[in-house]
Amino acid sequence: MVKENLEKVRNNIRMAEEKAKREGKVTLIAVSKTKPSEMIREAYDEGQRDFGENRVQEIVEKYPDLPKDIRWHLIGHLQTNKVKYIVDKVAMIHSVDSLKLATEISRQAVKAGKSVDILIEVNVAQEESKFGVLVKDAPDLVKEISTLPGIRIRGLMTVAPFVSDAEENRAVFSTLRQLSVDIDSKNIDNVDMDCLSMGMSGDYEVAIEEGATFVRVGTSIFGDRQYM
Ligand SMILES: *Cc1c(COP(=O)(O)O)cnc(C)c1O
Repeated sequence: MVKENLEKVRNNIRMAEEKAKREGKVTLIAVSKTKPSEMIREAYDEGQRDFGENRVQEIVEKYPDLPKDIRWHLIGHLQTNKVKYIVDKVAMIHSVDSLKLATEISRQAVKAGKSVDILIEVNVAQEESKFGVLVKDAPDLVKEISTLPGIRIRGLMTVAPFVSDAEENRAVFSTLRQLSVDIDSKNIDNVDMDCLSMGMSGDYEVAIEEGATFVRVGTSIFGDRQYM
């Protein structure tokens, strides 16, 4: 099942890339939260290397069982006191939305002798239930974080609203892209704006048309999630 689903998603990504004249620009992150290591292994055997988890605990549990060339992406809210458990395990942290959190990532990265790639999470749609910095506050936050050692800002991330028609999120995605262009034009030291993490199972094709470089797809690959 994972194999067939993955094929379908990869195909859709290719078609969306072609439509947008952005061939080869998109990396698929298979979001494996709540799913067992065997399913991750199935996707791995099909060549999938980028996986996303939203809880520190799950990365820590799955990490030892799985091949070391997997690139783990932390995509969910991160508490400051948990940073130390994952700084040496993740390829990228997508959900940085405060100076306090960034400062702790920096501290732990320096301690581990590492440089950690991060994205700034932006709450584009200003949903109360969502994490992320507001669009208007993002440039200042980027500037503040850019001076911290052991940390490298690579771009922006957003979790768009849950909608029945993906087109409804097009404006959210284009707003994030425009914000990244605006920030990039400030030429801040130690800041790249080459990554845009946006689009999930329901809307990743639209996100690709609007400039996504990472799409985070769970349900369409691994099936529905059961929460206990
Ligand atoms: C769960 C999750 C996803 C994947 O969502 P699907 O709708 O299952 O594709 C993407 N991004 C974040 C931040 C998530 O928590």
